[in-house]
Amino acid sequence: MRILFKHLDVPDIDDMDVYIREGGYKALEKALKEMSPDGVIQAVTKSGLRGRGGAGFPTGKKWAFIPKDPSLKKYLCCNADESEPGTFKDRELIVRNPHQLIEGMAICCYAIGSERAFIYIRGEYIEPARKMEQAIAKASNRGFLGERILGTDFNLQIQVYRGAGAYICGEESALLNSLEGIRGEPRLRPPFPAIKGLYESPTVINNVETLANVPHIVLNGGEWFASIGTEKSTGTKVVSMSGHVNNPGNYEVDMGTPVREIIFEHAGGILGGKRLKAYVPGGSSVPMLTEKHLDVGLDFESMLAAGSMLGSAGFMVMNEDTCIVRATLNMARFYAHESCGKCTPCREGTSWMVEMLESIEEGTGKMGYIDRLVDIANNINGRSFCALGDASAMPVLSSIEHFRDEYETHVSERGCPFAGDRGFALRGG
Ligand code: SF4
Repeated sequence: MRILFKHLDVPDIDDMDVYIREGGYKALEKALKEMSPDGVIQAVTKSGLRGRGGAGFPTGKKWAFIPKDPSLKKYLCCNADESEPGTFKDRELIVRNPHQLIEGMAICCYAIGSERAFIYIRGEYIEPARKMEQAIAKASNRGFLGERILGTDFNLQIQVYRGAGAYICGEESALLNSLEGIRGEPRLRPPFPAIKGLYESPTVINNVETLANVPHIVLNGGEWFASIGTEKSTGTKVVSMSGHVNNPGNYEVDMGTPVREIIFEHAGGILGGKRLKAYVPGGSSVPMLTEKHLDVGLDFESMLAAGSMLGSAGFMVMNEDTCIVRATLNMARFYAHESCGKCTPCREGTSWMVEMLESIEEGTGKMGYIDRLVDIANNINGRSFCALGDASAMPVLSSIEHFRDEYETHVSERGCPFAGDRGFALRGG
């Protein structure tokens, strides 16, 4: 089912007039004129919507944590940093339909009592940032933002803030630091952002896809949304497909859709008719799975039961010619580069893993390096200050779990058995 992408076949849906013609901003009107802020939160809670950025926290619960005290300033920060490797869904949601996000943000702000919201967007997203700014200006001119929105007492300003290309600023507390103009590194919690977030005020931080779902929930009701997907993972999920598939791109599917259907029907199967070797289902921060896991459902619970996580649903598909050691090294280099350096396990461990993976890939590694890699990864995982440390351990641990024989072959054959030097190390072609 298409919820977020239901308008994508409508030409110029990014244009505000077309969006309105297609029923846009009706949900905001309904929320402001027919529902109380608590009523909106209840509808979102009933829908079962969970955060789409990776953590999967229940959205209604997050909003309900915000204190009701009207003397406190409250903020909404939309996390559009989207730096997770393999993930590019928020970019499309913004560029193709910016008013859907604005409407979702406005409804959220009404529900939590906020008059100021930010879209923290990754620095490299120049066109999406521009698009958002233009859409915000148009929505303000038309009375969907600004003072006394739609003739009510509700006021709201939304501002786009561009990041500077640091992956860690997608972590919510580092994002707040960056927004405040200080070094982008994670904060100690508690206090959690719902109590002390931006400028020490109660703050909701939600991903683009999460907020874009909100107008549909308000218009159609929480029960309607909860009837889609699985019991605990409701609604749809936008999946970013990349790597060795015939049709890379974003696909919106019901939660619970089998991975086999996503790869072989939506994304057109494996490039060149080859066999699937491995796939990463939720961006590089989650454990990779293999051909054995093709019938796993795309939802929070099924992915966890299979030994991975839904994450951002940024799928990276690798065919049989992929060198797993090289692919893992590629991901390990990313984390070593993006580690903010605040805590020792991640700062030291990520670089150490890169050195060992390089040795194995280049043919100078020893058999003992494989277990040492597992040991280092286990000492980073769960012992780091933020989730980046855990994320760096996942590709290493899961690749050794599923492909230890390939690591051993690299050591015994003194080098990479796969030829070629492109992408995930394709052999031939
Ligand atoms: Fe920084 Fe890594 Fe520690 Fe997170 S885990 S605080 S990114 S050094």
